[in-house]
Amino acid sequence: MIEVSGLTKRFRDRAAVDDLTFRIARGEVVGLLGPNGAGKTTTLRLLTGFLPATAGSVRVAGFDVFEEPRQARRRIGYLPEVPPLYDAMTVRGQLRFAAELKGLRRALLPAEVDRVSRLTGVNGVLDRLTVNLSKGFRQRVGIAQALLGDPDVLILDEPTVGLDPIQIREVRDLIRSLGGRHTVILSSHVLPEVAMTCSKVLVLNAGRMVGFDTLDGLIARHLPGRTVTLDDIAFLEEIFGKLVIPA
Ligand code: ATP
Repeated sequence: MIEVSGLTKRFRDRAAVDDLTFRIARGEVVGLLGPNGAGKTTTLRLLTGFLPATAGSVRVAGFDVFEEPRQARRRIGYLPEVPPLYDAMTVRGQLRFAAELKGLRRALLPAEVDRVSRLTGVNGVLDRLTVNLSKGFRQRVGIAQALLGDPDVLILDEPTVGLDPIQIREVRDLIRSLGGRHTVILSSHVLPEVAMTCSKVLVLNAGRMVGFDTLDGLIARHLPGRTVTLDDIAFLEEIFGKLVIPA
């Protein structure tokens, strides 16, 4: 569903993203992990086609995001780091507006707004102005926007940042439930979140991919012989430490 080859982004003389090659199959939920400045946000912006690459290619559902942006973007739902909300709009107005921008047919808008707002739990605040929402609800509206049109691929930049623990659990459950039907790639710096939500982990360090595997695969490779359970996340921190600070 997502095919990335030789993807590189240079800002002046520095590579923020350096020669990434990977594939994500339909229905997988992949967590993008890395320390601050590793290139997570830049990678996600490249995958959407909004940020032009210096080199390499990205195909989503078979469409090249740089060469065939319209077809590719129709298959992508994107939650940027800061959800783009208009203060003067109600949640309903915001979602309708975003759906129109995505090219959804007018007749389908009310049902689609209803569907995504129920999925993300914002159906109780549809008539509130977005400016008056808490950070958690703004984030949910951002996720609802990404879900409009039922895209094959969801690209979520730090989807649970700013949420309280209960909301985090709800959004986590939501993301998990989206896997299978949707292909999801999300960035996070919270290791437990990735361990609990994702089927695979892609680790970035200084723009380079230093690990890409299932959790079981990472454990087998980096902590051979160790028995770990998924609610003990210390092991993931240990693996992460090995990958981002190479011995
Ligand atoms: P964080 O966890 O802090 O959000 P990140 O992993 O998302 O970090 P990026 O935001 O992708 O990292 O940044 C990767 C590198 O690219 C950083 O060194 C950053 O300063 C640089 N960078 C990102 N965008 C630009 C830009 N528009 N111009 C110049 N440098 C940039």
